[in-house]
Amino acid sequence: MIPQAANAYLDVRDESISHILSSFDTKSSQIRRHAVRLIIEAMGNEKEREVSAIDDLICLPLSLWLLRHVNEHILTSRVINHARDIVEDFLAASSLAPEFVPDYANRYGVQIQYSEDDEVFTMPVGTFVTYTSRVTGFKYRLVYQNVRKGIVYTDREIAAKVVREAFVRHVLEAYESIEPGKTAIVLEPMKNSIEEIVDTLQKSGITKNFDLGEVDFNLFPPCIKEFISEMQDGVNLPHMARFTLVSFLHKIGMDNNAIIGLFKTAPDFRETLTTYQVNHVTGEKSSTEYSPPKCSVLQSNHLCYKGDDPLCNKEWLKHPLRYYTIKKKPKNQPKRPRRNPDE
Ligand code: SF4
Repeated sequence: MIPQAANAYLDVRDESISHILSSFDTKSSQIRRHAVRLIIEAMGNEKEREVSAIDDLICLPLSLWLLRHVNEHILTSRVINHARDIVEDFLAASSLAPEFVPDYANRYGVQIQYSEDDEVFTMPVGTFVTYTSRVTGFKYRLVYQNVRKGIVYTDREIAAKVVREAFVRHVLEAYESIEPGKTAIVLEPMKNSIEEIVDTLQKSGITKNFDLGEVDFNLFPPCIKEFISEMQDGVNLPHMARFTLVSFLHKIGMDNNAIIGLFKTAPDFRETLTTYQVNHVTGEKSSTEYSPPKCSVLQSNHLCYKGDDPLCNKEWLKHPLRYYTIKKKPKNQPKRPRRNPDE
């Protein structure tokens, strides 16, 4: 168990939470309300949200306690992603003077500097690589950065993304530091709110298990498995990953409704848009039935997750569908006897 986090910006110690729950001042009751709203709002797709400003995130430690108690992985991911987006939007907004971005970075242990003269943000290469490793998109790769003497010179958008990722790590550490065995006692005054959260969760359907029908997940290549598990974790997939996933599942025989159902757990799920996109990619509503991209295309978009997978590392493996068909072939299939060409 990680020691309980006492970071001034993410204080999840028992005594701090108990204090919020036993205080009757306006600020504490606002924190209690926002802690619940943050979770409930993360389950929906409404644009208008009560908890949407950086200052509202003062409720996050209590939300993390509630999430630890409810113990639903996908819900925790959604709430953290929502909080993460609030932080990123705030840091990227022009209403915040760029000089303040390093202050927020320091809160989460990231050393970022801002040069007013050059209007650039700087950070050590190690910091950049550490925090951008899970961010998709070519512009977050080191090879596209301006690097001099071990320092990355970059813009505000990338600086905000780095701080955002550092924030997520701190939040996850804080979450892990909460002892599950204590939550029922500490959160006793919030029994009704917990019931409301659980009730909303059950009605939302976001925890519904993925139904892959006849399709065997175990035969999927690592890239497709990664896209599915990221969706289960509440991550918004980049466009090409979505396209690959839809076209791959279609080609291996999954029907459109089942594919649309898979996307229901995505945090930005919109049924009409998803239905349109799935029908378009699969040729249902267009003249083209698209195929998933080749491995080389996925690799150049940083969407290949082959690791040390033996099949993916074969030189001749060029396509995710080939991976699936090879895996699907029954093993020990008797070889057909070669025919004598003279016969
Ligand atoms: S090598 Fe191809 S099939 Fe394997 S993970 Fe990479 S992109 Fe997917």
